[in-house]
Amino acid sequence: MFRILTLCLPRRCAALVCALLLLAAGSVTGLAQDSATPIASAPSPGAPGIGDPYFPLLGNGGYDALHYTLDLDLDVEAGSILDATATIDAVATQDLSSFNFDYRGPLIDAITVDGAPATWTRDGGELTVIPAAPIANGDRFQTQVRYHGTPEVDDDDRFERGWWATGHSIFAVGEPAGSDVWYPVNGHPLDKATYTTIITVPEPYEAAANGLLTSVAKTTGTAGNPSTNTYTWENRDPTASYLVMFHAADLDIATEEGTDGVTYIEAFPHDLSQRDKRVFADVPEMVSVFADLLGPYPFATMGNTVFEDTTFNAALETQGMIGYDRSAVREPTVAHEVAHQWLGNSVSPARWQDIWLNEGFARYSEALWAEAAHGDEAAEAAIRRQVGSFATASRADESHGVSIGDPGPDRLFSEAVYAGGALVLDDLRDHIGDEDFFRLLKEWASRFRYGNATTDDFIALAEEVSGQDLDAFFADWLYTPWTPERVADRFPLGGTPMP
Ligand SMILES: [Zn+2]
Repeated sequence: MFRILTLCLPRRCAALVCALLLLAAGSVTGLAQDSATPIASAPSPGAPGIGDPYFPLLGNGGYDALHYTLDLDLDVEAGSILDATATIDAVATQDLSSFNFDYRGPLIDAITVDGAPATWTRDGGELTVIPAAPIANGDRFQTQVRYHGTPEVDDDDRFERGWWATGHSIFAVGEPAGSDVWYPVNGHPLDKATYTTIITVPEPYEAAANGLLTSVAKTTGTAGNPSTNTYTWENRDPTASYLVMFHAADLDIATEEGTDGVTYIEAFPHDLSQRDKRVFADVPEMVSVFADLLGPYPFATMGNTVFEDTTFNAALETQGMIGYDRSAVREPTVAHEVAHQWLGNSVSPARWQDIWLNEGFARYSEALWAEAAHGDEAAEAAIRRQVGSFATASRADESHGVSIGDPGPDRLFSEAVYAGGALVLDDLRDHIGDEDFFRLLKEWASRFRYGNATTDDFIALAEEVSGQDLDAFFADWLYTPWTPERVADRFPLGGTPMP
């Protein structure tokens, strides 16, 4: 995400819930561990969280989601879902008596598991599905959830709101969570999956989503029913749930095959200004620059779409189809979101605590793009802006005393994580030298491609590549709180404030 303003921050962490989960996990596994001979365990409920220390209820345990087919019929002007079916193919990782999805969405009409009617309960953001028969560890199973209505959103929480309806458009974006407002999901980056997204909208609207547009089917309206367009988008690349999106609006969707094998897509509103369109003209060159630094572009598509302005007021690096508010259409932001496709989307955080691996890298990539496109002075100016921003942020409540490697769930997207994270990498480059630094970047994007990694993984790789002991370097940068005094000591000349 490219942050512009700081509004409210996520507030899902509940230490009590975390403790209860640990107790529950202990009671489930204790029996088998104490026994010398394996015994058949009774099917048990999958855990309601995947184990993220910051957000204990994000994601779910007991299964691995493989593919989602999301079929939504939308009333764009009402901002609602007329009818939806989410089909989730998964494989059980334990004997399951029940399992959970993260789901804050509208009314559920029916659920089946492998075609048989299932029962369910809802508690906050947790949907518990009880299949007619238990599911054996290792078995594949398919859940279908049918639902309809208008997602209820928290207007004050732009990070987890997830669903944005403007009267002329609907778009879905949210980080660290938000997908669970419009479909049932194992909502944590640890469980990536592929997607088929089928969106039906009335004329004259169109719909963009992750992946390749594989078909558009039209129906002719009848009395009382408008003509509709059904867009099918196939995303065959493993995708974290916070990177899943769609945008239904009055769009022009243009697709072009790049000479690099990537499909470039523009899904722009009809009235997008020439100035804004020109900003996106650099995208293929950005992909080329980052491919040189980080290895081949990881996904089938590089799409960009522009939303109507809302309080979202940001851009999000949604995979293969990046979404921008109009206020976020700026060259450094576009470079930032393009770089995220390698750094965050392909290599994703294993825990939300590791968010600096996304945002520090993407912010530093703005300087790498400036260096490649405009030369050393532009790159130095980009770094000075980070110093200025880090200093300003450290004096503000939102970032005061933040540890970049452990900011806490309420300050995940604080400016100190972004600007400070970029400065960690700039200092690391000085410390280990250009040759090792760029080998490290490329190896990072390659070794953890399509997977997840932690800060410890990054430190270990930096030490492996450089041959240096970097524990003290990272302890200082990542785990020592950045008070204004510490920032002023480290950067006595300051920088230039962010524009
Ligand atoms: Zn970002």
